[in-house]
Amino acid sequence: MASTKKHSTPKKPGGDIPRDENNPGIKPGDSLLNYTVVQMEALEDIDGVFYLLEHTPTGARHIHISNKDKENTFGVAFRTVPTDSTGVAHILEHTVLCGSEQFNVRDPFFSMLKRGLSTFMNAFTASDWTMYPFSTQNQKDYYNLMSVYLDAAFFPHIDELSFKQEGHRLETVVSETGDTTLEYKGVVYNEMKGAMSSPGQIMGRALMQALYPDTTYNFNSGGEPSEIPTLTHEALKAFHARYYHPSNAYFYTYGNLPLEDHLQFIQDKVLNRFSRINPDSAVNCQPRWQEPREFTARYPLSADETPDKKYQASVAWLTKDIQDSYEVLIASVLEEILLGNASSPLRQKLIDSGVGTALSDASGFDLDLRDTMFACGLKEIEKSGVKKVETLVLETLEEIVQKGIDPRSVASAIHQMEFHKKEMTNTPYPFGIKLLLTFAGPWIHEGNPVSCLNLNEDLARLKEEVKQKGFLEGKIREYFLDNPHRVLFTLAPDTRMEAEEEKRIQGELAEIQTHLTPEALDKINTDAALLKELQETDEDLSVLPTLALTDIPPDTEIIRPDSISATTSATCYNKATSDILYFTCPMVPTDLPESLLPLVPFFCMAFTGTGTVKRDYADLAALMDLYTGGIGLSAFSGSGFNDDGKLVTFMSLQGKSLNHNIDNMFDIIAELVSGVSFKDITRLKSLLFQYRAGLESSIVGNGHRYAMSLAGRNFSPAAALGEMWHGISQFQFIKSLAEKIEDTKEGQAHLEQLACDLDTMVKCLFKRENLSPAIVGDTEGLECGDKNIARLLTLMPEGDTKETQPINIPVKNEFPREGWSTSTSVSFVAQAFTTVRMGHEDAPCLCVIAKLLRSMYLHREIREKGGAYGGFAVYSPEEGTFSFGSYRDPNIERTLEVYANACEFITGDVVSDEDVKEAILQMCSEIDKPETPGPASIKAFYRDKVGLTDETRQKFKKALLAVDKQQVAMVARKYFKADDGNKGTAVISSREKLEAANKALTPGGKPLNLMKI
Ligand SMILES: [Zn+2]
Repeated sequence: MASTKKHSTPKKPGGDIPRDENNPGIKPGDSLLNYTVVQMEALEDIDGVFYLLEHTPTGARHIHISNKDKENTFGVAFRTVPTDSTGVAHILEHTVLCGSEQFNVRDPFFSMLKRGLSTFMNAFTASDWTMYPFSTQNQKDYYNLMSVYLDAAFFPHIDELSFKQEGHRLETVVSETGDTTLEYKGVVYNEMKGAMSSPGQIMGRALMQALYPDTTYNFNSGGEPSEIPTLTHEALKAFHARYYHPSNAYFYTYGNLPLEDHLQFIQDKVLNRFSRINPDSAVNCQPRWQEPREFTARYPLSADETPDKKYQASVAWLTKDIQDSYEVLIASVLEEILLGNASSPLRQKLIDSGVGTALSDASGFDLDLRDTMFACGLKEIEKSGVKKVETLVLETLEEIVQKGIDPRSVASAIHQMEFHKKEMTNTPYPFGIKLLLTFAGPWIHEGNPVSCLNLNEDLARLKEEVKQKGFLEGKIREYFLDNPHRVLFTLAPDTRMEAEEEKRIQGELAEIQTHLTPEALDKINTDAALLKELQETDEDLSVLPTLALTDIPPDTEIIRPDSISATTSATCYNKATSDILYFTCPMVPTDLPESLLPLVPFFCMAFTGTGTVKRDYADLAALMDLYTGGIGLSAFSGSGFNDDGKLVTFMSLQGKSLNHNIDNMFDIIAELVSGVSFKDITRLKSLLFQYRAGLESSIVGNGHRYAMSLAGRNFSPAAALGEMWHGISQFQFIKSLAEKIEDTKEGQAHLEQLACDLDTMVKCLFKRENLSPAIVGDTEGLECGDKNIARLLTLMPEGDTKETQPINIPVKNEFPREGWSTSTSVSFVAQAFTTVRMGHEDAPCLCVIAKLLRSMYLHREIREKGGAYGGFAVYSPEEGTFSFGSYRDPNIERTLEVYANACEFITGDVVSDEDVKEAILQMCSEIDKPETPGPASIKAFYRDKVGLTDETRQKFKKALLAVDKQQVAMVARKYFKADDGNKGTAVISSREKLEAANKALTPGGKPLNLMKI
C-alpha cells in the first residue's frame, strides 16, 4: 500500500504564522481553491516562506517557496519505479516531450527552448523519480512554459514513431558490397551507450545494484544498452498511465509570483480532469543483511591501454533511512569529517597509502535514495589492492573511533554546512532548482522536505550533542563498523569488453535478420522513411505560445564598482551578499620561462594543496575548511576585447569567507603567498597523480569540449594557450610527466625538478605590482577586507621596474585534421573556422546564426536523424571563431558531411523572421541570465580586466535586437564555405571507429590524421 498522507501536522491558526508579502493572509489549515494548506514555515536563511499543500480531490502534493527572487521556477515530478533495465522511465521522459494534446507538434519542448526567455529548461530521470523543471524571469514566459510542461507530462501523445526516435529502433544499412544489415538506433539507446562507457557512471550504477539487490535500485532506470531494445511501445504507454498521474505527482513553484495563480492554473489545466487513484509507487527499504558481501563489475578499457593499475575498489554501506532528517544530517557531517578535505582522516589515509591515486568514483554520502548510502575507496589500483583498500578503510575507521575525532574537524564540518547554507549561487542551476533538488529525495520518500531547507533546528541539536564525549565516534560504529550491510566493491577493467559487446550486438542483429519476415523488413523500412519524412516536415508552430522582442528588456545589467580603495587600490563592490566577503585577485606572471607554461594549471592546484613552510598540507586544508568557503588559484587565457585582441592571461587568487572569519581567511592567504612550500614531494607526487586521474575521467564526459578546443587551437595565441592548459594537450603533458615520475630509476630526480619549477613560478607571480585585487561584500566586510589586503601587500616583494615581456605562445600555421583515440564507444566530432570578433558589426548576427544552425539544422540532422545526444554550433565573440561539435555521436563521416552542408543550409533561403526572432530570444536569455550579487560583481570585475566595456555590451545587445533575415543571409554568405580548406577538424573516438571512418573518408582524399590520447 502506498501511503499518501504522512505529512506533519498543520500548525494551528493563530500560532506563529510567517509573514509573506507575496501571498498575504494565507494560514496553515486554510482551503485555497481545492487545496488544503498543510504546512507553512519561515525560511530565514533565504528570507522566504515554505508552503506544503495537498489537492484534496486527487491527492496531488504541492510545495511553494515564496521569496523576493524574480527568477521564478516550476517543476513537476513523479515517483517512477522501474522493474527492469529497459530504460522505460528514461525513454518516457524523452517521449512525453514529443507532442501532446494541446500542442500537437513534433517537438514542443525543444521549440519552447527557442520561443521564450527561460534561464533553465530540462528533464531529469533519477533512479526512482522523473522531473520536469524550468526557470524564467518573465511572468508571461512562466505561464507559457507551464502550459507546455503540464500538457506534455499529463496528456502526451507517446506515438510509436516518437518512441522509435527517442527510444530504440532497427534500421537497415546497405554496405558497399550491396549487402543489407540491421543496426540499432535511438536517442536514449545512444545516450546510454555513451554513459555506460564511462567508468564513473558504471561505478555509480553498479554500486546501487550491489547494495540494493531487492529494490528498484537493482535496475538501471536510464536503461542498459543490452536491454533497451526489449522495451515495447505498449509497456511505455502503460508506465505513463500508471505513474504520470496527479495522485503520484509532486508540484513545485518558487519565486515572487503569487501562489494562488499557480494553483488555479494547474487545477484548470490538469487536476480538474482527474480523480484520485492509488498509484502504489512507494519504494520500500532494502532488507538488511546479516553478513557483508562482495561484488565485481567490469568496465571497457581501450585495447591499447594496460589494465594493471586500472582497478577501482570501494567499501560501501547502506546507512540510515532518508526519512530521518537528523540522522541524515549527522551522516552528512561525518562525510565532511571523514572525506571533506585533504586532512580528513579517511581521505588522508587512503591517498597517503599509495595503493591508488585518487578516491574512487561515487565516494561519499548519497542521500537521494530510499535508504541512504556511504561509499569510499581508491581508483587506479592493482587487482591485489582491492583487499588492501578494505583493510585500510576498516582499520582507519576503527582507529578514529579509538583515538577520538579532532574537535577542530567537527567545527570545520559544521562551518562548511553553515557557509553553504548561507551562500546563494545560481551555478550550476538557478537557485530555485537547486532548492528543489535538495529536498526532492526526502519529499518523494515521504520524509520531511522542510528539514533539508531549515537546518537550523537540527544543527543546534547536533552542536549540543557533539559536546558529549564519543557521540560521533558512536555513530561511526553504528553506521559503519557494526553495520553488516556492507559491500566490498571492485570495478575491473576489461580490454575485450568493448569488442565483445560489439560482437554480441552484431550477433543479435544477425539473428534478428534471419528470422525477419518480408513484412517485418518492410515495416522497418517504411518506419525509417516515415520518421525521416516527419523529421523533415516544416510544421506550423503557431499553436505554441511565444514572446515578442518587446518582452525583452532592451538594456544589459550594469554593475560598476562602488569605490576604489585609496590605500590598496582594491576595487570594491558594496553588495548584499548575506554576510559573505568575496576576494579575487588577478595576477599577471612576469618573466615566466616558456618551458614552464604547461605547468600553470598544476601549479594552481599544488598552490593550495601542498602546505606552507609553517604547516603541512593536511593542516592547511583543515584550516581552510574551518574558516573559509574555499581558497583557490586558477588560470585564465583569452583574447582581449580591445581592437588589437592581444593575448590576456592571468592567474586569479580567490577566496570567500563569512564576515566574522575575514581576518582568518587573509591569514591563510598571507601564509600561502609568502610561504607556500613544495618540499613535501611525496604529497606533490600524489597530487599530480590525482590531477591526472581527474583529467582522464573528464574526457568522455566532456569530449565535445576537448574536440572543439583541438579543432580551433591554431586560430589565436589565446586558443593555443587554452588548449595547452585545458585541453587534450594538458592531459598528454601531465600524463607524460607522471610517467617520468613513476619511473623507478629517474623518478625521484624528476620529482625534485618539478618542485624546483614550481618554486620558480612562485617568484614570477607574487610581486606587488602584479596584483590587482577586488572585493565584494557589505560595508563591514569591505572595510575589514581592505585592511587585510593592505597587510597582504606589505608581504609581497617588489618586482624590478624593467618592461616585462608578454607571454609568447607559438601558434602553428596549419589546420588540423585529426582523429584522437581513447576508451569510448561513442564519438565527439568537432570543426572550427575563424570569422570576426565582438567589435565587428557582423558579430551579433554570427551569434544569431549559431543559434539558428543549432535549433533548425543540427538538432534535426545530428540528434533526430543521426541519433547523437546533441549537436552544437558555437560562435565565440572573444576569439572570433565559429565551431561545430557533436556529443555522444554514433557517426563520424556523416557528421562531418552535416557540418559541410551547414553552409548550404544557412545560405539558402530557409530562415524566416520568426526563426530570427527565436534566435534573438535565446541569445538574450543567455545574456540576461541572472546571477547572485557576489558572483555577478566578480564577473563584472573580470569583464573590465579583459577590456569588455558596458558600452560594447550595450551596443552589442542593441544590434542583436535589430538583426533580421536579410542580414542573416548576407553574413552567412560572407563566412560560410562548404570547403574544409580553412577549417580545423578534430574527432575523439575509439580507434576502431576512427579507422572505419578513415576508410569511408579516403575516397575524397581527406582521411583523419590518427593520434592517441
Ligand atoms: Zn536522456
